[in-house]
Amino acid sequence: MIGASLTLIEVFGIKIRVNISWAFIAILLAWGLAEGYFPTIHEQLPQATYWWMSIVAVLGLFLSILLHELAHSLVARAYGMEITGITLWLLGGIAELKGEPPSPKVELLMAIAGPAMSICLGTFFWLSAGALEAFVSVATVLSYLGMLNLILAAFNMVPAFPLDGGRVARAIIWMRTGDYLQATRTAARMGALFGLGLIIVGVLGLLTGAGLASLWWVVLGMFVRFAADSSKLQAETKNVLAGKPVAEFMTPNPITVPSETLVTDLIENWIYHYDFEFFPVVEEKCVVGSVNLRDVRSISLDQHQAIRVKDIMQPITSDAVASPRDLAASVLTRMQESGKSLLMVMEGVNLVGVIAMKDLFRVVAIRSSLEQTE
Ligand SMILES: [Zn+2]
Repeated sequence: MIGASLTLIEVFGIKIRVNISWAFIAILLAWGLAEGYFPTIHEQLPQATYWWMSIVAVLGLFLSILLHELAHSLVARAYGMEITGITLWLLGGIAELKGEPPSPKVELLMAIAGPAMSICLGTFFWLSAGALEAFVSVATVLSYLGMLNLILAAFNMVPAFPLDGGRVARAIIWMRTGDYLQATRTAARMGALFGLGLIIVGVLGLLTGAGLASLWWVVLGMFVRFAADSSKLQAETKNVLAGKPVAEFMTPNPITVPSETLVTDLIENWIYHYDFEFFPVVEEKCVVGSVNLRDVRSISLDQHQAIRVKDIMQPITSDAVASPRDLAASVLTRMQESGKSLLMVMEGVNLVGVIAMKDLFRVVAIRSSLEQTE
């Protein structure tokens, strides 16, 4: 999501990754605990002890978030959903699920599993802290982790999508109405509002001098709003494209360019002339590849006179082509996974059209806004 992630281990075949931001937050948190929080709770311990306590606490938090996400993932997998991995980052963890839950019941169970795990962990840490009261430093770390896990559970149960509570809310509305799209819209609206609330709290905090911690709320609020928005878009896309073939959304009879064309020519007579950024390349009426703006930009200006389209074109590969009968929704998923935003639509060896990711999203935006005003 933000910056690079590092794969740590694999548990039950699920890759556990850590985003770079986590290392940063971990150091900041350990420092805050060692220099601030723990010394105020228990005075007169040696400074080194505070640091040991802090490192253990940060690792404990890491493990707690991981177990929370694993609980989500394992329930999801038990119901046949595919999990690509878990990424721990700045604001917690994200279990990456492929696709959407098949039924409201699965979504409900999956969503509740995480907070349930946190409540169990919180209770366990509290009880252990009580049992080990004699060891001040150990008990302090345990009760801190107990508190953190309960806060984690409580925060996640706020009914604002994409938080777990928002998923619970969506599942319940979905169960009652049978309308997945409407349920997602309602849960996403709550998510967007909650995100706005967090941003306002953060900004007020910054204005009143509550310190940099307020920035955290702003970032969290922005993330919640972004995630709520994209979930809504995803549900609308699924709804608009459902069951419809690529043929319905493609641009038919696209303009092609012969492979022998010089790049100067391509720019003058195709790109500037048609204002398209993508052209299928033909050789004696047969499609042999495609060329786009990025390919043109990859060569320097003084080479435009010497290089031909066939030297810079992308060859035809299976991920660059769709059939007019393919389902638009699955082609969109393919585009998002491969990063190819334009595909050639071929009927056997014949080129019949071009399909662009942004056209699909434009159709979704238009039809969804019509639907909402009905
Ligand atoms: Zn969760």
